[in-house]
This record gives sequence, structure tokens and C-alpha cells, in this order.
Amino acid sequence: MSIVVQKFGGTSVGDVERIRRVARIIADTYDQGHSIAVVISAMGHTTDELVNLANDLVQNPAGREFDALLVTGEMVSASLMALTLNSMGYKAVSLNGQQAGFHTEDLHNRARILEIDTGRVQYHLNNKEIVIITGFQGINSKGDYTTLGRGGSDTSAVALAGALGAERCDIFTDVKGVYSADPRVVPEAVKLDDITYIEMLELSRVGAQVLHPRAVETARHANVQIRVRSTFYTDDLGTLVMEQHSLEPNMRAVSGIASDENQARIAITGVPDQPGVAAKIFGTLANRNISVDMIIQSLNKQEINDVAFTVSSNDLNDALEALEKVKSEIQADAILHDTSVAKVSIVGIGMIDRPGIAADMFSALSEGQINIKMIATSEIKISCLIEKAQAKQAVQTIHNVFFPEACGATLVTDQKLGY
Ligand code: ADP
Ligand code: ASP
Ligand code: MG
Repeated sequence: MSIVVQKFGGTSVGDVERIRRVARIIADTYDQGHSIAVVISAMGHTTDELVNLANDLVQNPAGREFDALLVTGEMVSASLMALTLNSMGYKAVSLNGQQAGFHTEDLHNRARILEIDTGRVQYHLNNKEIVIITGFQGINSKGDYTTLGRGGSDTSAVALAGALGAERCDIFTDVKGVYSADPRVVPEAVKLDDITYIEMLELSRVGAQVLHPRAVETARHANVQIRVRSTFYTDDLGTLVMEQHSLEPNMRAVSGIASDENQARIAITGVPDQPGVAAKIFGTLANRNISVDMIIQSLNKQEINDVAFTVSSNDLNDALEALEKVKSEIQADAILHDTSVAKVSIVGIGMIDRPGIAADMFSALSEGQINIKMIATSEIKISCLIEKAQAKQAVQTIHNVFFPEACGATLVTDQKLGY
């Protein structure tokens, strides 16, 4: 019998009525003759509430005890879902990350899944039970609970689908699929029928919250077909994340626009222009597992440079502490930081070899009187660092340029634009 993995996010199971609705979706899929493993998030804003509770008691909660707290949210929703299905006459069992065999790295708060021992899940599936698994969690080599990072239930679901050799992995959420921009920021954003793994990966990395980046990475690696779809409009087929666009000739230059307000800029001023300095700075950050983006090195005065880069604001304190320690070694004048910034990005494989795209993005920002502080590009992505207060306006303005049909203007095809 084919195995289907279904994942339901926090809003989808936000209250009792919604849990009933989701139970019906699961039961209907089971009735169609599938074996079903369900991965579930914590109800509504439960994880935020747990984080706030810890923050009320201690500064920067982290590590083992913080994970021990956060994993409880998913345990509540998984058992409530199993109870509901049982009451509807379906055999269902809830399993937490440990019981479901999710083995992760030792690292707390953002561990990667190393392996899923699917024996227990498989046993219940063979028994014709519906298996409800807590997302976002696993255990490490010491047997302690770990979490995968915020939004990590998507990754739990995709990794499980890969390990079980599932036919598909449906990610049910509170929007109808992946849109050209966050539909809460750009109400006229266009729902995409499909998107390639590589574009989705970039979009998630630059802030499109709809899928966890590691879920996309895992899907590509394990060849899992993901469909992002709505819990509330189940007739809508949502968005398929796939290897290649179905209609290559009609490919747009840009598939999506995203912003990330969770960014900080660090500038190290007055560092000597000599070999080894960059290696020291970025090696120090890498040792602390801090990812760096948008690096710029500029000449301050003869043989003296300024180095500026961005990190996630969650990593800012850690990064500053680490850099303070190497400041004298690299003979830097000062380490400055700024958290009033946001990154706005466009992503699309259609922009490869089309140099006009960057200019169009910059013109859109300039028309909106939005100053660009830093720029980073890859083959399929252009990111600009701007003032945080202007992030939403920037996404809307850029969307108007690349999706003109959505704001009522005539669709300008690539050909008409002459790219
Ligand atoms: P879940 O709780 O189901 O995991 P999330 O809140 O993590 O849901 O992700 C869904 C949200 O992602 C949507 O409500 C939407 O506001 C946001 N989002 C951001 N960018 C996009 C996009 N390009 N397409 C669709 N949704 C997006
Ligand atoms: N509950 C966790 C969070 O809110 C994991 C998830 O929902 O994906 O981040
Ligand atoms: Mg999510």
C-alpha cells in the first residue's frame, strides 16, 4: 500500500475545531486506501508562547533545557489528534520524536536529522494504524531531546517521507500554496502551480516562511515530491515543488520575491589589508556555526580595509562576542552593528543570463525612494539590504515590476521586455 506523509502546521491545528477538520482530512486520505504518517506542529502560537515564557525567566534561553521545553508543544497536538481520530473510529497512535526514531546531531536548538529509524512507525503502519508524529524534534546521542530550528516540522515531514519511501509529502498550511510573494504582504501575489527545488530553496533561505529551507534541501536530496497546499481549501491542488518547471518556454524571469527582517549588519573597521584577515574573521564565526551573508570589503584608506557582512539577528550577540575576542588579533579599529536592516530578494532560474533583471530591481527600489545598503547576487538570486522600515513597501514595489498583471497592468512577457 502506498505511504503518504501529511504535515499540518500550527494554524491548521490552532483550536479544537481545526483539529477536527484536520482529523477529517487525514481520515478521508486513509479511506482512499493509503497508509498515512502525519507530522504535526504545535497548536497555533504555542511555540512562541513557550519561547516567551522562557524569556520572561532568563536571558537568551538556549540549550538542552530550552529544547526540553519546546518539544512539549508538538506532543500536545499529536496526542490530541490521535485521540480525535480514535474517537472517530480510526486506529491512530501518536509518537514523539524519540519514539518515532528521529536521531539528530548533538547540537541543541537547531540540530540536523542524522537518521530516522522507521521501525516503530513502519510497525504501526503495517498494523493499519494512522501514525501521528511530533514535528520539529528528535533525540541526540545522549538520548536528550533536540529541536530542528523554528519551522522545522516541514523538515521532519520531508525527511520521514524520504526514509519511508513515501509516494508523496503534502505540506498543509494556512495559504493555498507558494505565491510570488507573501500573500499577507502583497495581497495580489500570484499562486505558483509549480516551482523548482532550487528556486524554492533560495526563496526559503531568503525569508519565504512557507517552507523550511532544510525541508527543501532534504526533498531534493531524497527525491521527495512536496506539494504545499491549504488545510482550508482542500480542492485546491496547491504548488508542486519539482525538479524542473513544467512549462520551460513560458518561464518567468522571477518566480518569487521575499524579505527577511531578521537580519543584522556587522562592520569591522580599520583592518589591515593583508592575507589571513578574512580567514580569521569568518573562520571564527564558522567555528560558532554562524552563517554569514552579503560580504563587502572596501578600502578605508591605504592598506586599511572595512569589512561588512550580514548575519541572522538571532546570531548577532554570539557573533559580536566571538569577534570581540579576535579584534586585537586582527588589529581592527572597531566592530559596529546595525539591526534596523532587512534583506529583500528576488529569485528565479529564469534570470540566468538576463542582465536586465538586476537593473529592474534596483530601479524599482529607486522609484520607491528605497536606499540600497548592500547587494549580493547568485545565478538565480539578487538580494539587497535596505532599511527594515521599508521592507514591505520594497516587496510590493518589486512585485509590481515583475508581476505587473497582478496589479492590473497588462502582462509584459519576457519577449516584450526584450530580456
Ligand atoms: P505553518 O504553520 O503551516 O508551517 P507558516 O506560518 O510556517 O505555516 O508558513 C505559512 C506562511 O508563510 C503563510 O501564512 C504566509 O504568510 C507565509 N509566506 C511567506 N512567503 C510566502 C510565499 N512566497 N508563499 C506563500 N506563503 C508565504
Ligand atoms: N512549532 C515549531 C515552530 O513554531 C515547529 C514548526 O511549527 O514547524 O517553529
Ligand atoms: Mg512553517
